[in-house]
Amino acid sequence: MAPSGSRSVKRGCQRVLYWIPVLFISLIVAWSYYAYVLQLCVESIEDLGEKIVYLLVYHILFIMFVWAYWQTIFTKPMNPLKEFHLSHSDKELLEREDRGESQQEILRRIAKDLPIYTRTNSGAIRFCDRCQLLKPDRCHHCSVCDKCILKMDHHCPWVNNCVGFSNYKFFMLFLAYSLLYCLFITATDLQYFIKFWTNGLPDTQAKFHIMFLFFAASMFSVSLASLFVYHCWLVCKNRSTLEAVRAPVFRHGTDKNGFSLGFSKNFRQVFGDEMRYWPIPIFSSLGDGCSFPTCLVNQDPEQPASPSGSSTGHQFPSKPLRESQSRLLTSTPSWTESDTAEDRDKKGTSNPGMTIENEA
Ligand SMILES: [Zn+2]
Ligand SMILES: [Zn+2]
Repeated sequence: MAPSGSRSVKRGCQRVLYWIPVLFISLIVAWSYYAYVLQLCVESIEDLGEKIVYLLVYHILFIMFVWAYWQTIFTKPMNPLKEFHLSHSDKELLEREDRGESQQEILRRIAKDLPIYTRTNSGAIRFCDRCQLLKPDRCHHCSVCDKCILKMDHHCPWVNNCVGFSNYKFFMLFLAYSLLYCLFITATDLQYFIKFWTNGLPDTQAKFHIMFLFFAASMFSVSLASLFVYHCWLVCKNRSTLEAVRAPVFRHGTDKNGFSLGFSKNFRQVFGDEMRYWPIPIFSSLGDGCSFPTCLVNQDPEQPASPSGSSTGHQFPSKPLRESQSRLLTSTPSWTESDTAEDRDKKGTSNPGMTIENEA
């Protein structure tokens, strides 16, 4: 009992500590607001027109940046639907079997009714022991959140949240707006930064805020730009960070482009079909996060029209992609040879799975 009590205290302390990076970013942002608005615009800039334009653009970027950051932090990651969880009877059945091959047989039977295309490296069904569920394509178990996260990209300490299907668009916008925010500060602060060194500024405390503002904004611009460019590339390729590290395994083997449907569709899978929602941190990604169209599978006549793209539309048909899926599920000689308990994805994190969202 004592160990479990101390474990929960440890876990509670960890949860508090996880917020430190978010607090750090928030303090820097709050200081940058004070330094830019009060010390630079109000105190140091004399030209009224320049002051108004700077303040206006700054506040637009500031609001969008904080909004996107807030959404990335506080949007709960989506977990697999109950259809992917083992039923009580299946759990009992699975526990009774100690042979990996028989367990795989059970999992394979359950997977037949689910839109699952990816496998472990050994060709086994991806199963999470901790959550007791069959992992949907692109879903991974996050050890920090201790949950299976749909289309998991990575666990980001700077937002103390998992970046995945539910908030990837927000994360992209957070990167974009924070980069614009830093670039705008760098560009408008530059002339005053030069004045600092040429003694063109009056000797007030504003001088030091202006100097540090320039250093901080330009340094953050560089790191944000590289991260943003990398994630733009991932969006174009329809890969998550995990999938970029380790290509997903399909029936026919690994395929890093397995979920790519071409640039336009890849982009719309994350940002949605309606252009007016693209720049706004409102959920507009397509699909349900559990099933993804893949270029490896031909359009199935049984597959219904594309998901609505709304976050609430979590339904997929009870037997989606049955025909194409059974094509993937059957004639799988490699499984029967390598399906052992050891092969199974026991840690729940070992295999990146890639799938593509249904879209129009
Ligand atoms: Zn899990
Ligand atoms: Zn996580």
